[in-house]
Amino acid sequence: MARIGIAGAGVLGRLLAWRLARTGHTVSVFDPAAGPQPPAVGQIGAAAPHAAGFTAAGMLSPIAELDHADAPIARLGWRSLPRWRAIGDALGGDEPLVRVNDSLLLAHGSDRGAAQRVLARLDALPEAPRAEALTRVQQHALEPALAPGLLAWRLPGEGQLLPRETLLALAQQAHGVQWHWGCAITQAQPGRLLAADGTAHAFDLAIDTRGLGARPELVLRGVRGELVWLHAPGVALARPLRLLHPRHRVYLVPRPGGRIVVGASEIESEDRSPPSLRSAVELLSAAHSVLPELAEARIEHLESNLRPARADNAPVIEHAAGLLRINGLFRHGWLIAPALVDDALAAADIAAPLETLHA
Ligand SMILES: Cc1cc2nc3c(=O)[nH]c(=O)nc-3n(C[C@H](O)[C@H](O)[C@H](O)COP(=O)(O)OP(=O)(O)OC[C@H]3O[C@@H](n4cnc5c(N)ncnc54)[C@H](O)[C@@H]3O)c2cc1C
Repeated sequence: MARIGIAGAGVLGRLLAWRLARTGHTVSVFDPAAGPQPPAVGQIGAAAPHAAGFTAAGMLSPIAELDHADAPIARLGWRSLPRWRAIGDALGGDEPLVRVNDSLLLAHGSDRGAAQRVLARLDALPEAPRAEALTRVQQHALEPALAPGLLAWRLPGEGQLLPRETLLALAQQAHGVQWHWGCAITQAQPGRLLAADGTAHAFDLAIDTRGLGARPELVLRGVRGELVWLHAPGVALARPLRLLHPRHRVYLVPRPGGRIVVGASEIESEDRSPPSLRSAVELLSAAHSVLPELAEARIEHLESNLRPARADNAPVIEHAAGLLRINGLFRHGWLIAPALVDDALAAADIAAPLETLHA
């Protein structure tokens, strides 16, 4: 068994810690955050950066993401889905953290071309089931609140998770891990992590999952994303919706307690300030066009954060003796993390055989 140090307790860092600790490795994790709990609502975007993973909508949508992403991302996502199901089962909890069932891809009639472009790209993922075109009657049976006149396809196999709750559960159930909260790592080097207070921590393997905090050792940019939490207990929504639109890529994700999260903008900016009026108006009007009953929803919260991305928007795994870096998860981090962790651990020749995760 190895002594492993992880810099960064976001999506990747916590998933790695949970998985490696379950295998019996000795794991230490370092993060400048005050603790494992999600930041209080309203705190994200304030002075200290928080993990992008807390802000995410939690869509697990390899098929719909083909609108933005190339086939390798979709394949990583498709490989990750059964792992997420197994991880969700292992983490347990009163409310299921992970749901893998289906989602709907929607377009207004005038945007049929945009929809056909995405559907044509599904050929890049032959392992996924075909999208099912839905008649109005079928749409109504699945989602009674959908606006009439929409084009809709069911994407079997897609899913969603609860990001804040999953991050907390991973940390709480990574038994035996030494958590160093309030501790920023300034450099990740082969076999050691250098902390901001000047201390050096030695390991067999140092893993760098600091997201944007890995700069300047990795060349990365932040891509701003904004989303809105709605409280709409009267609006029935059973599954995530994705609206294809020439200007906006909007999704609506049901959350417990009558909430619906509407996201997300994608802006080439590292501005962490609160969402703009323009983004809020655009996201909410697109959402209202899909679910007209949202007119009386209450706006609970707006949030922005930065997605860590490389120039080509593709993830990177870099391995040299004693050092593993994983980064650039961009807008698909939750979706692809489990398969990427598999590939990274294989590259570093670290055993973490959790057969139950390979359902
Ligand atoms: C608005 C929005 C919506 C999104 N929606 C989705 C979605 O629906 N589905 C999906 O799959 N993905 C989504 N994403 C993307 C996803 O959140 C990211 O891809 C993912 O969080 C990246 O994971 P990570 O572990 O690399 O980085 P992060 O989650 O950002 O974690 C990085 C961690 O490193 C820590 N850190 C930073 N600096 C240091 C340092 N010096 N020392 C130690 N630790 C440090 C941070 O505190 C943080 O905890 C969304 C992102 C945004 C912003």
